[in-house]
Amino acid sequence: MSDLRVTTALPVEPGLCGACRHALVKGTNRGTAYLRCTRAAWDASLDKYPRLPVTGCVGFEPASESPVSDNPVSDSTAQASGAS
Ligand code: SF4
Repeated sequence: MSDLRVTTALPVEPGLCGACRHALVKGTNRGTAYLRCTRAAWDASLDKYPRLPVTGCVGFEPASESPVSDNPVSDSTAQASGAS
């Protein structure tokens, strides 16, 4: 119930994660916060709880871009059915 989407709650600079659409900041009952990488749920090359600050990441996608999907299967389906 304490899900946050604000990186300002983190005690450290998040680096790339701070601007990534896959980052989720969660608060704790003790007033601290931690960052979880939601992409790690299906991308085994990523850590669920990356060490911050992240300075380079193959999974980075800007949060400002419109989301396509967190499902790589439907992403490839969408690309395959696109007009050419
Ligand atoms: S994909 Fe990379 S940059 Fe984005 S939240 Fe996960 S670890 Fe951070």
